[in-house]
Amino acid sequence: MKNREFIIAVGFVLLVAAGSVVIQVKRLVEDRTLTVVYSPDRTLSEIAESNGVMPSELKYYLQYELRKGTAVNLFQKVGQSAVPETAVRRAIVRAWDDDPLRFVIRFVLWAAFLAWVVLWMMHQRKVATIRKWVIIGVWFLFGAWLGVSPNPLESFVSMFQWLTDRQGGPVLIIGTLALMAMLSVWGAKLFCGWACPLGALQEMLFYFRLFPAKYLFKFPFWLSLAVRIILLAAFVTILFGGWTVLGQTNLYQPVNYFKLFRLPQLTPLILYSLPVLAVLSVLLYRPFCQIVCPFGLLAWLLEKVSFYRIHINAKRCTKCLKCIKACPTQAMHRIYERKTLLPPDCWSCGDCIESCPARAVSYKMTLL
Ligand code: SF4
Ligand code: SF4
Repeated sequence: MKNREFIIAVGFVLLVAAGSVVIQVKRLVEDRTLTVVYSPDRTLSEIAESNGVMPSELKYYLQYELRKGTAVNLFQKVGQSAVPETAVRRAIVRAWDDDPLRFVIRFVLWAAFLAWVVLWMMHQRKVATIRKWVIIGVWFLFGAWLGVSPNPLESFVSMFQWLTDRQGGPVLIIGTLALMAMLSVWGAKLFCGWACPLGALQEMLFYFRLFPAKYLFKFPFWLSLAVRIILLAAFVTILFGGWTVLGQTNLYQPVNYFKLFRLPQLTPLILYSLPVLAVLSVLLYRPFCQIVCPFGLLAWLLEKVSFYRIHINAKRCTKCLKCIKACPTQAMHRIYERKTLLPPDCWSCGDCIESCPARAVSYKMTLL
């Protein structure tokens, strides 16, 4: 049995790795600096806009490319400045933040990590205690270090944007979302629960809070589902209707907290609303995920066909209800009562596994 699980896990990692290479194969072999739109008669600001980059971002990345002391004037014609063409081209590629090699590395690491998580959770009781420290590593590796792109929110939104404007390669856009969906199907909301850096950031605030658990609040599932669906419907309506909100056609843009992993793109609205997200994250489990994120909604749907899920052994269960108390959401309540209609999101966090004194709760493959 152990061998079979291991072989399936290796197959899963290879599948994701192959998928990520196929999606990026063309871009992996091309010199991306040659695709930059450049003209010495334009200002840096105009070059940035022609390449879909914010001028402030171009200036930020030019600091990496230039020696200290070289002045960067965004409004001077670049041919008349001391900024070399190669530096501009390289800075634009950096600002695109879609390095194909980093894309492949990220997905291979994600798949290998989630494959390990599942095998480990199946044989480990102290899941919750150890996981609190693992999520710090997730936040660092997949957010602070590997950066913002690709991320689940933008991958989800990009697909709808592509349907309206047909801008960008469909293979990359649809393939990225499909790979993230694969990572989610591996275990119940496993990608969200274990691999998303924004989810990890919220959990760090939740688990390492300074005040007692009695102030915590379990957000009603029906309400979180309703809000996520309404937001998604509003997003689709505004996008396809060609309207704008706060100057944006993308309703999720003003609350795209993934930008925290890409400081040059941080908007004042995200910065100023950060304390609200931080306070909510301390009081309830993953507020952004439960109330806003459209990828979380997709992952909730995929949960119904996930390979690995939480399971209760009825013969061992002593009905102490400690698992329900330990669960940060209403998920365990429904799993315990075996109510399958609209079950709340389970994040595969493992709090219930560790809380069960009778060892009745486990993480199991549902297909074998
Ligand atoms: S719901 Fe969205 S933000 Fe939360 S963990 Fe999932 S993808 Fe990340
Ligand atoms: S049922 Fe609750 S405690 Fe158990 S893994 Fe799912 S979300 Fe975590």
